Amino acid sequence: MRWRGRRGSANIEDRRRMSGGRGVALGGGGLGLLAIVVVGWFFGVDLTPLLTGNGGVQVGNSQSREITPQDEAAAQFVSVTLADTEEVWARIFDEQVGERYDPATLVLFKGVTQSPCGGASGATGPFYCPADEKAYLDTDFFVTLDRQLGAKGDFAAAYVVAHEVAHHVQNELGILGQANRLRQQVSQRESNAISVRIELQADCFSGIWARAAERQFGSLEPGDIEEAMNAAAQIGDDRLQERAGGVARPHTFTHGTSEQRQRWFATGYRTGDIRACDTFSAQRL
Ligand SMILES: [Zn+2]
Repeated sequence: MRWRGRRGSANIEDRRRMSGGRGVALGGGGLGLLAIVVVGWFFGVDLTPLLTGNGGVQVGNSQSREITPQDEAAAQFVSVTLADTEEVWARIFDEQVGERYDPATLVLFKGVTQSPCGGASGATGPFYCPADEKAYLDTDFFVTLDRQLGAKGDFAAAYVVAHEVAHHVQNELGILGQANRLRQQVSQRESNAISVRIELQADCFSGIWARAAERQFGSLEPGDIEEAMNAAAQIGDDRLQERAGGVARPHTFTHGTSEQRQRWFATGYRTGDIRACDTFSAQRL
C-alpha cells in the first residue's frame, strides 16, 4: 500500500506515552485465559466480562513503553489508513445511505489502557468500543499478526484498521447496537452465532473499503488484496482454534471460519455495495 507522505487523520488519540491502566499480570491458568482472549477478542468481540475479575490483563511486551522509529512508522501508517477510511465512508454514506458519516476516533496505546468496554491490552488485539465510539489499537499487534499468525504485509495491517472502522460503520448504521441487544437476550450459542454475523459483515465492509481505496486513491500495490485475503484466512476461528492446539468447535465460533471471512471480504471487494454485506439475512453465511 502506498502510504508514505500521504495525509493522516485528525481523529487519532495518542496514548502511547501515557502510563497504562491497572494492568495485572496473569497468574496460574493464565495461558488458558490468554488463549481464550486471543481467540475471542481478536478483532473486536467484547469479552470484557471474562476479564473483569482480573481487573485487566497484561500480556506481551508491554514492559517497554519506549516509542521506537518502527512504532512511529506504524502510527503514521495507521493514521493514513484511518484518513482513507474516513474519505471512503463519507462518500459511501452519501451515495448509499443518504446520511453524513461521523468518523470514529482511533486510540493508539502501548501496553495497556482503559476503555468503557474494559481494559485493553496490546497483545490481545485491537477492538472497537461502541460506548465511546473509539477503536483501540496497539501497533505491536501488527508484529503479532506478522510473526505469530502468519498474516504478513502492510495490507494485512490495513485490513485490521479497516475491520475496526467497519464496526464503527455498523454502529453508525444502528446495526451493532441492535445486534448486541439481541445477544444479551439469547443463549451463549445463539449469541456466538450473532457475533459471527457481525464480524463477517465487518469483513465485508472492509472489502468495500479496499475496493474504494484502490479506485479513489490508487494506493493499492500488487499483492495487497492477497495480503488481506491471507490475513482473513489466518484469523478464521477454525484456524485459530487449531493453531491453539485444539479441535475447531463451531458452536464457539465468534468470527467465522477462514473460508467465510475470506468470502465476505471478497464480496465487499467485488460489489462495493453495503446491501451485499447483509450477513443478517444471508441464507448462506
Ligand atoms: Zn471484529
